Amino acid sequence: MIPVMRPVLGDEEAEAAAEAVRSGWVAQGPRVAAFERAFAERVGAGHGVAVSSCTTALHLALHALGTGPGDEVVVPSFSFIATANAVRYCGATPVFADVDEVTGNLTAETVAPVLSSRTKAVLAVHQGGMPADIASLREACGEIPVLEDAACAAGSTLGGRPVGAGALLAAWSFHPRKLLTTGEGGMITTDDGDLAARLRRLREHGMSVSAADRHAAGTAVVEQYLETGFNYRMTDIQAAVGLVQLTRLDGIVAQRRELAARYHELLDGVPGLRAVRDPVHGTTNYQAFWVLLDNDVPVARNDLLTLLAAEGISARRGIMAAHLEPAYAGHPHPPLPVTEKLSTRSLILPLHHELTAADQERIVGLLARAVAATPVP
Ligand SMILES: *Cc1c(COP(=O)(O)O)cnc(C)c1O
Repeated sequence: MIPVMRPVLGDEEAEAAAEAVRSGWVAQGPRVAAFERAFAERVGAGHGVAVSSCTTALHLALHALGTGPGDEVVVPSFSFIATANAVRYCGATPVFADVDEVTGNLTAETVAPVLSSRTKAVLAVHQGGMPADIASLREACGEIPVLEDAACAAGSTLGGRPVGAGALLAAWSFHPRKLLTTGEGGMITTDDGDLAARLRRLREHGMSVSAADRHAAGTAVVEQYLETGFNYRMTDIQAAVGLVQLTRLDGIVAQRRELAARYHELLDGVPGLRAVRDPVHGTTNYQAFWVLLDNDVPVARNDLLTLLAAEGISARRGIMAAHLEPAYAGHPHPPLPVTEKLSTRSLILPLHHELTAADQERIVGLLARAVAATPVP
């Protein structure tokens, strides 16, 4: 079996988790604080606020901006469904914008037609690690804040800097499907210290003093609950794993880019398939290596997935389109032709550290024969 993704986890992570357990401090504490500092530094942000997932990071970021009923937040439908759901958690309305066919991301051109006087924010996704062109989005959005769903984008770059550097608010995921994992987990990064302080309170019930600080104070500190918050905390066990994972990031990205380069070489000889590549404005970590089938390719995407699965190869449908899911049935949206094309005509190929050159040759060989519509032996 060739899985589509495998997390890079070793004895170092196991030992770090065990050490956190042995210390007796397993909830949010010193390791979370250390992970926040290390992660923020790596992505070039002033502050990191660790949370329980990217989904809760997105919710908290939108909530902190004051997003509520009557507000609209522009999001791509072409994303994991959590992007749009986070807007609904606030009682606001997700407004779907189409994406660029080459990057799969929102652009100034796709966003402009759906901005309105009720637009509270634009939530751009760095889809599958592909950096979105945030500078041009910001220019198109004027005063409207542009938030970043960077769930997949640890280690990607934008304009020569890490994705996250200079972001107003960026939300990250440490689910095992992404490059770095803490089992479950997320982070919000920002350069705004006041906002970071408020996000830290909001993730912990709105408490004026964190449990860890209260414990460390040595004297009796009585906390206050300043506003209605949430329990979106990360544990110190997770953060201990995250600290080790972070030391692997550069190596993981380098290896993924090598594997992607080999896929490109192999796929160059196959007509009708277009693989994702670096955009002009940055570099991708290839969290998702997706391939788009040209219109004239005679096989259906799902038939390709079935064919690969029969060979023990776990490819995936392309990125989903939220507006096509039952949860968004009846939700009004403008025409989203590119989203629908990418979502129905693309597939994600296996890419992980244990994938061999022979695996890649076999995968592309199967695809090549299938799209040429000759019988696969
Ligand atoms: C994975 C993902 C999320 C959700 O991340 P979780 O940590 O699983 O909550 C949100 N947005 C995008 C674009 C994702 O890929």
